Amino acid sequence: MIQNNKLTEEQYTKNFCDIHPPFEHDEAAAIEANRCLNCYDAPCTKLCPTSIDVPLFIKQISSGNIKGSAKTILSANIMGAGCSKVCPVEKLCEGACVYNFLDEEPINIAKLQRYSTEKAMEKKWKLFSRKDSLGKKVAVVGAGPAGLACAHALSLQGIDVTIYEKEAKAGGLMNYGVAAYKVTSQFCKEEVDYILSLGGIKMEYNKALGKDISLAELQQNFDAVFLGIGVGVARALEIPGEDLQGVEDAISFIYNIRTNDYSKIKVGDNVAVIGMGMTAIDAATQSKRLGAKEVTLIYRRTENEKPCTDVELDIAKLDGCAFIWLASPKEIVGENGIVKKFVCNKMTLGEPDVSGRRAPIETGETFSLDVDMVIKAAGQIPFENLVKDASLQNKNGKINIEKNGNTNLKGVFAGGDAVNGGKEVVDAVQAGKDGAKGILEYLDI
Ligand SMILES: Cc1cc2nc3c(=O)[nH]c(=O)nc-3n(C[C@H](O)[C@H](O)[C@H](O)COP(=O)(O)OP(=O)(O)OC[C@H]3O[C@@H](n4cnc5c(N)ncnc54)[C@H](O)[C@@H]3O)c2cc1C
Ligand code: SF4
Repeated sequence: MIQNNKLTEEQYTKNFCDIHPPFEHDEAAAIEANRCLNCYDAPCTKLCPTSIDVPLFIKQISSGNIKGSAKTILSANIMGAGCSKVCPVEKLCEGACVYNFLDEEPINIAKLQRYSTEKAMEKKWKLFSRKDSLGKKVAVVGAGPAGLACAHALSLQGIDVTIYEKEAKAGGLMNYGVAAYKVTSQFCKEEVDYILSLGGIKMEYNKALGKDISLAELQQNFDAVFLGIGVGVARALEIPGEDLQGVEDAISFIYNIRTNDYSKIKVGDNVAVIGMGMTAIDAATQSKRLGAKEVTLIYRRTENEKPCTDVELDIAKLDGCAFIWLASPKEIVGENGIVKKFVCNKMTLGEPDVSGRRAPIETGETFSLDVDMVIKAAGQIPFENLVKDASLQNKNGKINIEKNGNTNLKGVFAGGDAVNGGKEVVDAVQAGKDGAKGILEYLDI
């Protein structure tokens, strides 16, 4: 049955505690830092989308220069603290570490990055100071990783920035999307406060583009505009029964978890989650952690083609989630308007499609699961109407850009999920930096 209050307060606390705890003491961080081989042409740095100088910051930790190491990280990635908790490092820096080829554990880069950046936040180290105001104004729409990174990079150079954010808090999906056991709302607040402590960035909360403000107004009142609006709700399944009570969009489900007490979130006993990306895994693991008895992830291809990483899949396995590969949604059957059964097509794989992966094809056979909740997590839809209404060139709502975030509209730049359709926090941060570079060039600074 779908209901809240399935667990005790202690169980909720245990289930949602930090999945990657920090080093217990300074010596442990120093010992790990001393393992680093300080590689020439470091592969770990090459695989970081924000190009953090990994060997340098690790060397700074091993020599006791923690402030210097935090500055090295945050100069390349102002959300380096958040990224140390949410980055899929197994496919980025840690996946590239040479120790993998020596059959040894890679350097725990994320934990070291967390160690120095959290110290910087905790001790409120002032690592950056902005140049005097140049009298130029830029509007940033969206206070997610892309918008915040862009705003910070611009303010550093003396630009006066105003961020328009439709929600009451900043952080974007870091605050409202990423699993609660990776980052807490309190951490997100502290990270945003730390970024804004630079000065020169004015926040306008509860102001939505397309509702409270228009792009034309922003173009008129500012010297340039950066759009970091991300993407919207989960893609519809377009199958019968989608409107039944108990069918939820993963983004709204996770938004509720991130903005309420855990005990207030309703979850079913038997939950089906459609999709196998990061959002699907987060929806499934958090359903389990909220007290669902059975959680089954359904994916139309095989494990070889899954979009999530092996580490994420392992988290779901450890949480006791089940997996059905080669299955796609056909129909949700209800009783008295409430979800009862989930019918799926059995699939097989054919020739590669445009994505380069073998295309799933229906076999004609079906099967059904007894469920009381279905969570849709098969991709997110860009804000197509908003983008089209603003006459921005786009592909199915994903804003088209040229180098450094330039859109087809003069003085309007964009980056992050709004452009790439949904990647990772670290990619959005780099896109924000690129956008700031484009804006500074445009303003001739
Ligand atoms: C469930 C889930 C889990 C994820 N887990 C991870 C993870 O573990 N690790 C990882 O690296 N990445 C993860 N991601 C992806 C990551 O969160 C995004 O790639 C990243 O946040 C994108 O940053 P952004 O700034 O482009 O967009 P967003 O973070 O979406 O920020 C966009 C901001 O714009 C605001 N906005 C939107 N429309 C308007 C408007 N009209 N007017 C004003 N403001 C507006 C939004 O409220 C939001 O604050 C996850 C995503 C999801 C959905
Ligand atoms: S690849 Fe590994 S060992 Fe080499 S510099 Fe990077 S973290 Fe250090």
